[in-house]
Formats: sequence, C-alpha cells, structure tokens
Amino acid sequence: MNDDDFDALTREHFARPEIAAQMTADLLAARRAAERPEPPPVTTMPMPEFLRTRIAGQIARYRCPRGCGWFHDEPTDPGPLGLIVAIEPGQDSIGEMISLNAEARSLAYQARVEAAIDEHYAESH
Ligand SMILES: [Zn+2]
Repeated sequence: MNDDDFDALTREHFARPEIAAQMTADLLAARRAAERPEPPPVTTMPMPEFLRTRIAGQIARYRCPRGCGWFHDEPTDPGPLGLIVAIEPGQDSIGEMISLNAEARSLAYQARVEAAIDEHYAESH
C-alpha cells in the first residue's frame, strides 16, 4: 500500500462512519477470536463405555457409531510412564517433559482408536 492508497483509505474511513465502525468491530472480533484457545481437533472417536474385565482390567470400549456391533477396546491404564528426558535440570523442564509425554500418549491413544474405526469402516461400511 503506497501513500496515495493510504490517503484514499483514510478519507473513506472518515467519510463513511458506518464502514469505520464495521472495520473496528471486525478488528475487535478478530482480536477476541485470537485470544480464545483453539477448539479441540475434530475426531471420529465416539464416547466410550467403561468396562471392567478380568484379564485386561478396566477398558474403554468404543462401539461402531453405526451400531453394527463392532467395537474397539483400549485399556484405560496407560501403563508406566515412558522415558522422561529433562533437557535441563529444574522443575519447569521436568514438568514440561511430563506434560509433553502425557500429550503424546493422549494423541497416540486417539490415533489408535481413530485408526481402528477407519479400518473398520473401510472393511465393513
Ligand atoms: Zn460398524
């Protein structure tokens, strides 16, 4: 945008107060939207049922959303925490590593369930 363009925009801005008001409202809405946390990612995971089994302990059962009877089970106990490597000693970096580990496990869990559902859909629906 050169100076002439800017001058023209400024003249229009002051000559049409309703446009200026709309631009201000759009700017404020964009700023508020940027401050909100991102919505969670879209997932194909249905709500699970929680069941207790003798062999696997407590499991989360994800049933086919189309109600065909197929299901996928995931243990709710993720097992021992994986190797946590702190880059620098100190509580902040350890806390950060634990958070990253937990997030990675959560994403892996979701990916397993979604992959199982995708595979089932490809085979059966
Ligand atoms: Zn199905």
